[in-house]
Amino acid sequence: MDPISWSLKKMKRKIKIYKNLRFKNSKKIFLFAGGISVLLIAILLINNPFPVFSVSINGRDMGHVKNKDIIYDIVDSVEKDLSLKYGTEVTIKEGVITFEEASSKEMKPLDESSVIGALSESRNSFLKAWGIMVNGRRIVALNSREKAQGLLEEVKAKYLREGGQYLEIGFKEEVEINEINVRSEEILSYDDALSYILTGTAEKREHVVQEGESFWTIAGKYEITVEDLAAANPTIDPDKIQIGQAINLMIPETYLTVVTLEKAVESEKIQYEIAYEKTEALFKGEENIKQKGNFGIKEISKQVVRENGQKVSEEVIDSTVIYEPKTQIVLIGTKALPASLGVGFFDNPTRGKVTSVFGRRWGKQHEGIDIASDKGTPIKAADKGTVTFAGWKGNYGLMVVIDHGDNKSTVYAHCATILVEVGDVVEKSQQIATMGDTGNATGVHLHFEVLINDVPQDPMKYVNYTVN
Ligand SMILES: [Zn+2]
Repeated sequence: MDPISWSLKKMKRKIKIYKNLRFKNSKKIFLFAGGISVLLIAILLINNPFPVFSVSINGRDMGHVKNKDIIYDIVDSVEKDLSLKYGTEVTIKEGVITFEEASSKEMKPLDESSVIGALSESRNSFLKAWGIMVNGRRIVALNSREKAQGLLEEVKAKYLREGGQYLEIGFKEEVEINEINVRSEEILSYDDALSYILTGTAEKREHVVQEGESFWTIAGKYEITVEDLAAANPTIDPDKIQIGQAINLMIPETYLTVVTLEKAVESEKIQYEIAYEKTEALFKGEENIKQKGNFGIKEISKQVVRENGQKVSEEVIDSTVIYEPKTQIVLIGTKALPASLGVGFFDNPTRGKVTSVFGRRWGKQHEGIDIASDKGTPIKAADKGTVTFAGWKGNYGLMVVIDHGDNKSTVYAHCATILVEVGDVVEKSQQIATMGDTGNATGVHLHFEVLINDVPQDPMKYVNYTVN
């Protein structure tokens, strides 16, 4: 029990004892008086005819009473009135009223309304109240425990979302409701107490927006940050303030942090895989989607911790696949390009002079023609096709082979540089290499072959060079 209510009880007990004593005393006095000589009474009466009491409240003289009960009755009635007024038990403080024995000769009537007025002053009484204690410090006092409890519930409810599955709702701070004694002005109305707990003040300060003002200029005017001003006005879009609109200037500094543990279920996409399948049904370089991929869906159960509505942490509790993803299958063509893809006749693969023709030469078979020019002269594909070889090939040096489909291919040898890779689809007349003298070559030239079913043909039948 706290000292105030203890002394309150003590005081009440004292009053009772005193009342009894007074009664007993008067009996005793009566008996005593009965037992003592009438003379003595007479002497007493002459000196002090009737015992009366001067009444003072906080040292201020209120008049005299013959019987202290008159005062106690007034105390009772004032306490009752104040209790009704404040909605809680009100007690007049001990020591406020003092009695002094006085002579009936100087009897001055009691000013009852002054007594009531003086006793009603807030400093002379204390109220039974319920304080909301945060980390041991009293933040607000209310006149009922139910109000204090209701207020805490309302603070919690402010941060709950509709449909939320809350596993726990509590405060980060240590919060309790304690019975306390306070002065009447310390008790707040429910609304003021709520506002105080949520914003750190019951005070209201506003600014009315003037022409040409922005959140930025208003914040500057009151020397607060734009972030704080925005936080103090959660329902106002800082970019859309209007002339005449009231902006709250009190920066909320809530005394309580509502901590919630919430179960949340979220759906998440599962990325599909892509697989490749080779097919003869498509030409080299062609692609086709055989099966379209689909995202899968998984359901993730989480436990989310929020403080005043702001997420501070989350933990995945469970994850269930609702739909498996479907793999995307892509067809890759392997079929050689048909003749129809090539134009069917060949362009000259380079410019220059034919220095050696197809056929036997110095006792050896020459499988192609030689076209000589300067080193670096562009070498072009004779027709559209797919590169099937690009690299070093013995006496041929750096060599490119292009498959034109329809069992036709062309060979380009002794190149200085190669510009294509195996698998490349090249267009007719696209540059594929530069002329050089790599491998077994006498002088810079292109050795050019045309093959049908891998059998060398006379290229002069397919190209258009003049031989002098
Ligand atoms: Zn040659």
